[in-house]
Amino acid sequence: MPFRYVLAAPEGVARDVLVTSLWNAGAQGIWERDDRTVVAWFDVPTGDVPSGGRWEEEPPRDWLAAWKAGLEPVTVGRLEIAPSWTRAGPSPTTIVLDPGMAFGTGHHATTRRCLAELQRRGVDGGEVLDVGTGSGVLAIAAVLLGARRAVGVETDPDAVRTARDNAARNGVAVDLRHGSLEALGADERFDVVVANLITDVVIGLAARLLDRVRPGGTLITSGISRGRAEEVARLLAELTGAHPATTVEGAWAAVTVPARR
Ligand code: SAH
Repeated sequence: MPFRYVLAAPEGVARDVLVTSLWNAGAQGIWERDDRTVVAWFDVPTGDVPSGGRWEEEPPRDWLAAWKAGLEPVTVGRLEIAPSWTRAGPSPTTIVLDPGMAFGTGHHATTRRCLAELQRRGVDGGEVLDVGTGSGVLAIAAVLLGARRAVGVETDPDAVRTARDNAARNGVAVDLRHGSLEALGADERFDVVVANLITDVVIGLAARLLDRVRPGGTLITSGISRGRAEEVARLLAELTGAHPATTVEGAWAAVTVPARR
């Protein structure tokens, strides 16, 4: 809708009448701006509109730019996540991200829960697996938090590319693989496995995620809808014999459990 017609109702003409004739002229949208003025959007200017108004060209709006401009850095514990266009370069506590189309700007509660759990548990010197790495945010965070090695698996090839770019942007080495758990070697085990997926996928993969946690390690699951956190916690308790810990943020929950005993 690149054109708008702005019309003030002349004295003695009901605004409703104007609105009706604007619709009849093919308006795509109408805004009754105040008592007297009506703004109508059209694909192209037309002569069928009631006379007395003026045509204006609608300035094009770059929605992506508008969205980006509004995206603020996020801080979780000692990590800050900053969109790439707001920061010049990497630092030990800032993750500089360009999420592209991939999930993981740090703005979603499920990502923040994982960042908090990674810090609560600690990953220093350990090996971390990030299942569904998206933008790579959690795997990159793990390295900044001191992990010796981080592996990210991701089923969406575009996200894998984005994650690789983001790792490079932050100057960290992350082993990023296209696929899911089958992209791992048969014997690969980790001190921390983090999986920010959706509830049903977490439930479906739970046993296989635990297979990848070495003794003494921890599984962090997230992306769980709050109302189903207990169901996930019960399942993880059954599978490990341990007590899971649930944390909630808004409508979302993360469930963390120690490795099988
Ligand atoms: N880890 C990021 C992104 C989470 S979004 C963060 O915490 O913000 C979940 C990601 O998992 C998506 O990019 C999706 O493509 C991927 N995904 C979904 N199912 C998967 C599976 N079974 N194995 C690996 N990745 C999966």
